[in-house]
Amino acid sequence: MNMKKLKQLVLCLSLAGIAGAVPVAAQEAPQTEVQDGIRVKPLSRTRVLVPEEQLNQAAAQQYTAMMSEAQQKGVLLPASHPEVKRLRAIAQRIIPHAPRWNQSAAQWQWQVNLVQSEQVNAFCMPGGRIGFFSGILTSLKLTDDEVAAVMGHEIAHALREHGRERMAKSSLTGIGARVGGALISGIFGIDPNITGTVANYAGQMLVLKFSRDEEREADLVGLDISSRAGYDPRAGIALWRKMAALGKRTPLELLSTHPGGETRIADIESHMNVLLPLYARTKGTSANKLPPYRTNVALR
Ligand SMILES: [Zn+2]
Repeated sequence: MNMKKLKQLVLCLSLAGIAGAVPVAAQEAPQTEVQDGIRVKPLSRTRVLVPEEQLNQAAAQQYTAMMSEAQQKGVLLPASHPEVKRLRAIAQRIIPHAPRWNQSAAQWQWQVNLVQSEQVNAFCMPGGRIGFFSGILTSLKLTDDEVAAVMGHEIAHALREHGRERMAKSSLTGIGARVGGALISGIFGIDPNITGTVANYAGQMLVLKFSRDEEREADLVGLDISSRAGYDPRAGIALWRKMAALGKRTPLELLSTHPGGETRIADIESHMNVLLPLYARTKGTSANKLPPYRTNVALR
């Protein structure tokens, strides 16, 4: 789908939303609920304004367009590339745990691709299309546990439907009809600058900045599924420390759309009591018998 068609779809979805808006908003579910020891916002009921099938289809087409453009430019790494194999193997372990946070994920058509680019970034579109840029692997020297923490985080944004909810909310207020570009990045949950490197969409999209609450949810839900998949949740702390250290020297794409900083690490640390036992169980041991987490670089 080209951008014009996509914009039309977004506009159309937005306008469709306005009519049925008020009753849905009035029935909005409770503010938060606790699942698996993690406080989350229940999946918004306003999200039904953005039909999942159409959303996932639009995302799939956008993803395919991005990846075929990357391929034409020779920057889409092949399935035989060791880093592509590594990403796909990690995804394969995490994905079975996704439906506990969103039942429809059991039907998603998951894909994982790696684009050769200096960008320090990764994303997961609605419907399970995952993209990594090689810069995040190389400049942060991510271990498997840390890749799983990034991947879990991005998958969690899609599972908790942060982009979809934003789109539905915008359609409620009618803003959606006016700022189609912002909604497009809302749908895909990615920084449009990312796509700018492999496609020429940059000028047409605005930056979607996740809220602090959405970041907190993505961190904890992401580490829940990566822990269940057998990846050490303490990698989440190392990951954000590495990110912060690198971010001091150079602006990072991922940090510009995923705010948080120190409160993020404190939140993750305060949930180790629920996360570590999940991971320990996959290793046939208990949390207090786990050796200390060691990453591959010196961190303060
Ligand atoms: Zn995020």
